[in-house]
Amino acid sequence: MSKPKIALYWCSSCGGCEESIVDLAEDILTVISSAEIVFWPVALDFKYEDLNRFSDGEIDAALINGAIRMSEQEQIVKLLRRKSKLIIAQGACAHLGGVVGLANFNAKKEILERAYKKVPTLKNDAGVFPQMKVWQDDMELDLPDFHKIVKPLDMVIDVDYYIPGCPPPPELIKSALLAVLENKLPQKGTVLAEKKALCESCSRRDTKPNKIKIKRFKRVYETELDENKCFLDQGVICLGIATRGGCNERCIKANQPCKGCFGPVDNVLDYGGKVLSAIASMIDYDTPEELEAILSSIPDLAGLFYRYSLASSILKMKLNKDKNNAQEDND
Ligand code: SF4
Ligand code: SF4
Repeated sequence: MSKPKIALYWCSSCGGCEESIVDLAEDILTVISSAEIVFWPVALDFKYEDLNRFSDGEIDAALINGAIRMSEQEQIVKLLRRKSKLIIAQGACAHLGGVVGLANFNAKKEILERAYKKVPTLKNDAGVFPQMKVWQDDMELDLPDFHKIVKPLDMVIDVDYYIPGCPPPPELIKSALLAVLENKLPQKGTVLAEKKALCESCSRRDTKPNKIKIKRFKRVYETELDENKCFLDQGVICLGIATRGGCNERCIKANQPCKGCFGPVDNVLDYGGKVLSAIASMIDYDTPEELEAILSSIPDLAGLFYRYSLASSILKMKLNKDKNNAQEDND
């Protein structure tokens, strides 16, 4: 009997999600002995023609990490969708847009100018920018286009399941792969982790005050952190209040607050909005000036609350669209 076919692909990503596959360590042998890896460009020399040769739906599951920024990524994930029975978004970038989605705070032109003109270590006297068509040795080469915005995977193709995390813990990847191999997957659309917020399973939850009142938010370097006490009780923002659990408390165990990479729990429309309202309810102020001072103790509000989910938020690319439009008008 032939083994189930698995494909792995990366889009705009840092490589951490690929690392988390490698971090399966000897468990990868279980996967390899039970499944056939038919496409994994980062590790094995597959070509796109290899993918094209499969008939539609022939691949059992494709794990895709990274967000969609380039036209080539869009083209390949659409092809993978056609060739695969199941698509699993692996990691925060594919799930919610992730850290790469923060680029949506800037217009395309700003990003390219920064990367090809303004970076202090750059030497580009000729002012060369990437072009979609390039002539080299009498040949015309096509290069992928850089899209105006970053999108999470489900804004481009239909996604069956999500493995959250930045990167996802190898145990979650392993259980997702085993669920595929044993045909024990839950309802379509499920995020394959805990249903409840991290606070519910956190080892520090008994020290979380029922009513939290904060006069000033502290950054982790500004205080000697007690490793047994809830971060919020120490005046440090911990996003475990609104973040899905199932990460095995990796950050908490390292005495670092949760930064929200597992995204929202079920039925939350906008993660950043949810966190914002929870944190706002903790602010203890009497005057507008005091409120202003407390808020100024949180640097980069949007970057903190939307670190992993800007590209999938209600805000989506509103700011970016306005900026892109304004820049096009000026060109
Ligand atoms: S989810 Fe995190 S680890 Fe995975 S590609 Fe994105 S930034 Fe990297
Ligand atoms: S706020 Fe953070 S430290 Fe406190 S209980 Fe929740 S997850 Fe744990």
